[in-house]
Formats: sequence, structure tokens, C-alpha cells
Amino acid sequence: LWHRCLTRLEDELPSQQFNMWIRPLQVSASADGEEMTLFAPNRFVVDWVRDKYLERIGEVLGELQSGPLPQVRLEVGSSRSRPAPPAQPSAPAPERRATPSVEPRPRAVSTELGGAAKHRSNLNSSFTFVTFVEGKSNRMASAAAQQVAENPASHGYNPLLLYGGVGLGKTHLMHAVGNELLRRNPNAKVVYLHSERFVADMISALRNKTINEFKRFYRSVDALLIDDIQFFAGKEQSQEEFFHTFNALLENGQQIILTCDKFPKEVDGLEERLKSRFGWGLSQPLEPPELETRVAILKKKAEEARVELPNDAAFFIAQRIRSNVRELEGALRRVIAHVRFTGAQIDIGLIKEALKDLIALQARQISIDNIQRTVAEYYKIKVPDLHSPRRTRSVARPRQVAMALSKELTSHSLPEIGESFGGRDHTTVLHACRKVAELRESNPEIEEDYQNLLRTLTS
Ligand code: ADP
Ligand code: MG
Repeated sequence: LWHRCLTRLEDELPSQQFNMWIRPLQVSASADGEEMTLFAPNRFVVDWVRDKYLERIGEVLGELQSGPLPQVRLEVGSSRSRPAPPAQPSAPAPERRATPSVEPRPRAVSTELGGAAKHRSNLNSSFTFVTFVEGKSNRMASAAAQQVAENPASHGYNPLLLYGGVGLGKTHLMHAVGNELLRRNPNAKVVYLHSERFVADMISALRNKTINEFKRFYRSVDALLIDDIQFFAGKEQSQEEFFHTFNALLENGQQIILTCDKFPKEVDGLEERLKSRFGWGLSQPLEPPELETRVAILKKKAEEARVELPNDAAFFIAQRIRSNVRELEGALRRVIAHVRFTGAQIDIGLIKEALKDLIALQARQISIDNIQRTVAEYYKIKVPDLHSPRRTRSVARPRQVAMALSKELTSHSLPEIGESFGGRDHTTVLHACRKVAELRESNPEIEEDYQNLLRTLTS
């Protein structure tokens, strides 16, 4: 399990981080599989890994493992020296899995909900609709997920497929449906698993000649949640087995929920018949969150961590961290760690300090100059047209777009932006931002231009 977790983390993390913090960890699991201890070479690594990576490690383990999760502990030492005490005599007792919210996350155990419940589920109980922040980028997906939670297996919503890039909330929403199904019916058998896990289980079932049990198990569920189906690509036998399971569930009116990192039709190595079947129900994309949603997410996560995050500070972070929610959470975690470490209040100065390297990375990439050049090129006009007083539509519109992009992508104030556009007033910039926001709502062409420009500037 740890080995597969490592492979995933190696994919996800910058290799320098991986080699520095994760690779040195040694693992030892208890015989009953209920505990997993990670040994780090010293106290410093323990603290660092706990603050930065432990939560993600827990999530990945949850995705890879179908049964209840082992309790993950971090200790100083090595797996060979066990059970000898940790190298540093002053090291405090081993730490339990820490999360940014203060309470440990209980795993969802449906028996808590009523005496009659029979099934344990492996859902992450903190991934609910309550903790999911809605915004334009995820509203449709979230609405579809709620529909499914209210009326599982109803016609037109089966399967529910959520797709989109990493860290946009696919796994969260999928668990939210599962948790809600269980809340409404504690007896429901809701099974979540990562598609890698499905593949691994199937292979061991074939080897152990327990494939019939395997089939029976998956066909006995009320809802089957399979995460990241792009991992089925190229695994023909798994696809074959999944195809049959899928059909059996659909025929029996059992709910299927799937996630994928892109629209399944675009996944190479996935059989055509699966691709077409995945589209039978409802497919909804998750888009990168726009500024307002990013702010709302930060505020909510700060509240969950019981940290006061002022609005200007939330905006400051949200303007700089745009890629996805996981990055946003990572940035906030760093800010919170900084607060706890220094005892200072959250303000822009503290954030700049805590996110120094991230911000430097962005500042290098995007300047107003850079935006003006890109916009001029895109609309086939000249950069000086953006500075000029001319008001003809062919230059006024691109100028407004460039101003709106400068507001969104740089940390310059409205007056500074106005200054860079031929000495215009800050109210002109404000007007441009509002106008562009309005046009993006009403005019799909402008929205498309805007998205293209965003992509060019931020990639
Ligand atoms: P994905 O499966 O798309 O890669 P996840 O569902 O794992 O992404 O989300 C990454 C992290 O961001 C999780 O901690 C999740 O709780 C959080 N997250 C994503 N979207 C939202 C949202 N809209 N509101 C609150 N948290 C979110
Ligand atoms: Mg996921």
C-alpha cells in the first residue's frame, strides 16, 4: 500500500520535494493492518511532513485502499530499529494523523447513524456538501451531485460522471454524494474505491481464484463510487470486468458515480463501448474556480481551522494561487503554520513572507507588460493602441479585457493599472473590469477570448 502511495506522491510532487521529504520515510505496518508508522530521520522531518504532506498522504491512502484506513503515525526512527525508542530522548509521543482542522477526522462509519446499520464505509466524512464551496466553476457538477444524493439511480443521472483537472473537487463531491446517501439511509451499502484499487483487487481475485466473490461484492452495492477512471486506460481485462459490473449495476438500478481527469472520450486506451456507456447518464465538468470562489474557499477553510483570515488577505492569496483548490489549501496551510509559528496576525506582510517562493514564481510570469503584449497579439492590434486615447470598439474592447486581466492576474492596484494604460483614471479601470465581467456572462465569444488569454498567460 505504501509503495503505491509513494508512486502517486512521486507523480504529484515536485521531485525535489519528494526526494527531500517523502523518499527518506520508512514504513512499518502493524500485523492487523490497523496502524501504519512512518519513520523519519529526525524531528524536523517529522514536523515538516506532518504540516505539509500528512493530510495528502492520508487522502491518497484512502483512495488506494478499499477497507478501513490504517491509522498513520509519524515517528523519529527507522523501521529496522523498531521497537527501540526514537533516537532523540526528548521527542514527544508519536503523533496521530494531523489535519488542518483541529479535530481528527472520523472515518465515516455508518453504524454511528443507527443501530441497524450493517456496513462500514470507507468514505472521508469531511468531504460533504456542507464543506464544499459552490461557485460558478462547479455549480452544475454540485447540483448534479445533489440530485443523485436525493434520488439515487434515477433515470438520466446514472452514471454520474464528474470530470476535470486535478485538485478541482471531483473526489470531494463524489464522497459528498456517498456521505449524503448514508445520512439518508444508514443501511445503504456505499462503496468508494480508486480505479487503481479496482484493478489491483481484480488481479488478486483472479490469482486467488476468488473472482466470483469479487463479482458478487461489487454487484451487491447500492452505490459504487469509482475514482479516476483514466487509470483503466490500457488495462483491458479490468475494463472488461468493469464493463460487466457496470452493466449489472445499471440494470439493477444501483447508482454508479465516476470521476475522470478529462472527458472520457478523450482518454486514450479506454474501450469505445465503455466510453459510450459512461456518457449514458449525466456528465458534468469541474472548472478551475474563479476569483470569488477561490476567496470563498479560503475563507471557509480558514474558518474550519479556526483562524481569522481578513478579506484583503484572502483576496491577496486568491489572486496569486489560481491553479486549483489543492494548491490553494496548501498555500493557506503554509500561512496558518506561519501564524502558529510566529504568533503574528495574518496580514499581507505575513502572507508575502509565508508564500515567498510561490509568489516570486508568479511575479516572474505575469506583468502588465506581458498582458498587454499578449492581448495585442491576440486581437491583432498594436500595444500602443492600448495606451492611446482612441475609443473605437476595435481597440477599446481589447483594452478593457487587458485591464480586467491585469486586475485578475497581477497584484497591481487600480490606479497603477490605469497608469500603465496611458495614464487612465482608476474608475476607468474599475468600469472596464465590471464591463468585462458582464460581457463574459452575456457573450460566449468574449468569455472564450478571455479564457484563451487566461490560459496563454498562466500556462
Ligand atoms: P480532485 O479529486 O478533483 O483532484 P479533490 O476532490 O481531491 O480534487 O480536491 C482537492 C482538495 O480541495 C480537497 O481537500 C477538497 O476538499 C478541496 N476542494 C476542492 N474543491 C472544493 C470546494 N469547491 N470547496 C471546498 N473544498 C474543495
Ligand atoms: Mg481525486
